[in-house]
Amino acid sequence: MPAVQRVILLLIDGLRADVAERELVAGHLPHLAALTATGSRSRAATAFPSTTSVAYLPFLTGALPGRCNVPSIRWLDRQAYTGRWWRDRDAVRSYCGWQAGHLDRDIAADVTTIFELVPESIAIFSMVTRGLPAEANRIQGARKFWGTVSHYTENHQPGDDAVAKELLAQAGGDWRFCFAQFPAVDGHTHAATPDDASVLASLRQVDATIGALTERLRALGRLDDTLIMVVSDHGAAPVTGHLDLATWFRQRGARALAHPVLWTRDPHVAVMVAGNAQAALYAEPNRPRPSRHPLHALRASGALGIPGDAIAALASEAAIALLAGESDDGGVHLTSRLGDATLHRDGEVIRYQRLTGDPLEIGADAAHDHREWLARTIDGPFPDAPVSLLDQFQAPRTGDVVIAAAEGWDFREAWEYPEHKSGHGSLIASHMLTPAWSNQPLPEGPLRTVDLFPVICRWLGVDTPGSGALFS
Ligand SMILES: [Zn+2]
Repeated sequence: MPAVQRVILLLIDGLRADVAERELVAGHLPHLAALTATGSRSRAATAFPSTTSVAYLPFLTGALPGRCNVPSIRWLDRQAYTGRWWRDRDAVRSYCGWQAGHLDRDIAADVTTIFELVPESIAIFSMVTRGLPAEANRIQGARKFWGTVSHYTENHQPGDDAVAKELLAQAGGDWRFCFAQFPAVDGHTHAATPDDASVLASLRQVDATIGALTERLRALGRLDDTLIMVVSDHGAAPVTGHLDLATWFRQRGARALAHPVLWTRDPHVAVMVAGNAQAALYAEPNRPRPSRHPLHALRASGALGIPGDAIAALASEAAIALLAGESDDGGVHLTSRLGDATLHRDGEVIRYQRLTGDPLEIGADAAHDHREWLARTIDGPFPDAPVSLLDQFQAPRTGDVVIAAAEGWDFREAWEYPEHKSGHGSLIASHMLTPAWSNQPLPEGPLRTVDLFPVICRWLGVDTPGSGALFS
């Protein structure tokens, strides 16, 4: 092996595994086909929620979002929020607006980013940058500029073009790890469908960039010592129905705190939506408390500000695939139209037990380690759901209830512009499965996106930090 090996991690935001695979087979991605011919064309399950920025964390920290204590794009600090919305504004988070820059410092202190681990790193267009020297944090100005402009023009290609230009300019640099994010596939998907012509055009443009990049590396004599990975943070699916959760509560008489209007007086519930197919609920958010309410306590009439069992009412909504909260004995309690079940972790063993039904559609009670659970669920309706849900509830910032949308639905806020015609964030297969492609062989068997972090570390010859364990 050459003395100095390098890694290039290229993230095509929001690229569905099946869309990528179909395009490859059809011959529309010739440079990616050549790149991966002797490497890997695997699939990986992403993290939950399957949303931008949160789902970058596995690649860049080797830890799942809950382990990072960044459980979602929006969250509320249950211990710090006291109801004084202006004074406590730092205890309510949305990375979609002015707080985007808080993401780096929100990542748990005992989690190490790849940029901290490998000082000779650069990142292009990245939302996670902790540990990067300022000069290695490339084209952040363009990211903010094109992010804002394309939000309104619905043309996301200029962002990708800026990334491509910078990536090619940096190819001969003396970095060891390079992360670049291409935003256009995700942007065009939200405005249309995951396989819309605009999405495929952006994907083919990334393929052309990869062709130019490998050509440049070959000319520099650096192709053979560079591990190149092409990945995505989540998939997406068309949305035909919107269930605005804050409105759902308000229509039933509850005072709901939700973005963008946070000055709700004495709220019964806070609704934090991400992606937009995931949401978290925080009961009585203005009363600070160290622990979550268990799910059964929230079924009491009035617990979430509406008469009757609000959890049962939500579970009966067609928009909702499942709800999760804490069980009384330290596990996770799941409920859906299919009934109730629990998840418990005891060391290496994760146990799924049906109570009144089978919300994860496993078909039986079962106990496995996390690898076996991934293998058992990756081709099912909720890939890696047992691990993903247990991870959510290891974050102190996670809500009392976490909600995953059903296929075809999201929890879009009524105020959002432009309307999302496709979305992601949920635990369903179309949102969770991503391509994991490489010019080198990747580990055998079903993968999580978080499994790529130790592969990067090994190629760079650095030790994987202890925070890489799935559970702390
Ligand atoms: Zn994304």
